[in-house]
Amino acid sequence: MHNLILKKGREKAILRKHPWIFSGAVARMEGDPEPGETVAVCDDRGRFLATAAYSPQSQIRGRIWSWEEGQAIDRAFFETRIRAAAALRARWINTEPTDAYRLVHAESDRLPGLVVDRYGKALVVQILSAGPERWRETIVEVLADLLQPDCIYERSDVAVRGLEGLAERTGPLYGDRNALPEAIRENGLRYKVDLLRGQKTGFYLDQRDNRQFCREIAKGKKVLNCFAYTGGFTLSALAGGAESVLSIDSSAEALDLARENVALNGLPENKCEWLVGDVFEELRTLRDRAEQFDLIILDPPKFAPTASQARKAARGYKDINLYGFKLLKPGGTLMTFSCSGGIDAAFFQKIVADAALDAGVDAQIVARLSQAADHPTLLSFPEGTYLKGLVCRTGN
Ligand code: SAH
Repeated sequence: MHNLILKKGREKAILRKHPWIFSGAVARMEGDPEPGETVAVCDDRGRFLATAAYSPQSQIRGRIWSWEEGQAIDRAFFETRIRAAAALRARWINTEPTDAYRLVHAESDRLPGLVVDRYGKALVVQILSAGPERWRETIVEVLADLLQPDCIYERSDVAVRGLEGLAERTGPLYGDRNALPEAIRENGLRYKVDLLRGQKTGFYLDQRDNRQFCREIAKGKKVLNCFAYTGGFTLSALAGGAESVLSIDSSAEALDLARENVALNGLPENKCEWLVGDVFEELRTLRDRAEQFDLIILDPPKFAPTASQARKAARGYKDINLYGFKLLKPGGTLMTFSCSGGIDAAFFQKIVADAALDAGVDAQIVARLSQAADHPTLLSFPEGTYLKGLVCRTGN
């Protein structure tokens, strides 16, 4: 066994069950582990603290698998953890109207660096760090045995792998790749998905409950859906009885799929308008044309993946929210989101408050939204809560 020895006094976060060991906390390594190999994490006096996966190239030098002394990291370990993750979903996700959800949410399911999404009878796997990279074959075997999918496909085409010294990789891992579904079901609505090339693992599963929320408030409303992707909120608003929906995204491919999704569900295509463009510019154009909406959704991509990019990202959020407020009719509703890990809920609320102030509107928060239950947050890992949403209503 290799021992990763911490500097004196640097064990506090680990004792609080935070799963990351930063390079600055490491005094030395006893042994010569390979990337992803299991190491014992010890305090400066050599006392055992945890078992972790070693990431020699990353600022996050270790990711903790277990705090239990003597816990072997082996096939049985992955079976136990994956079974526990599946049990949570069985309890918390209604799989009647929904057949796509996150099955393993990395650190928050106590499997750091591993994401597994279920899309019908297929699984899509994303490996983000050296630990699960080393255990990849075992993980695939366990997923196949426990969950009996028709196929498992890898979508490890994410830039963060670079921080671990890992190249991006995609491809089939198990079963018949033709079994990848063309469409999934979410709360009774069907969405075509591109699991091979789509963003994330193909669909923004984390917004499921918030799309349902949108559906419930959309009746009779003139809706503007910004950053629409394949139409998640567009379909929800139409299904909820929206009067019209204007959907904007910079990806023409995504909007094509969104349009197909409207048709697939027999929703009224004549109530839809589509605009391929840059939301920052299009909001200004809409403002110049004095357009007004009852309900506006702002669901931008991650402007600040880490805290260091927060300042610049804040300007982006401020800008779109400012225009969002300006384009709302009195008494209108803004559903505004941030999925940036680098911006916490309090900061996001302040940005939105500043935007309302500059837009000259009085607004109230009527609901706070977050990620769905299949994206849980381990209490000792607050970073797990990355999706923040505010539903704001402007005064009459
Ligand atoms: N709301 C969507 C998910 C949005 S993901 C859903 O429910 O599924 C973010 C989207 O923003 C992506 O589709 C991306 O193509 C788009 N995007 C990124 N930058 C943009 C910009 N400046 N203007 C318009 N769209 C943008």
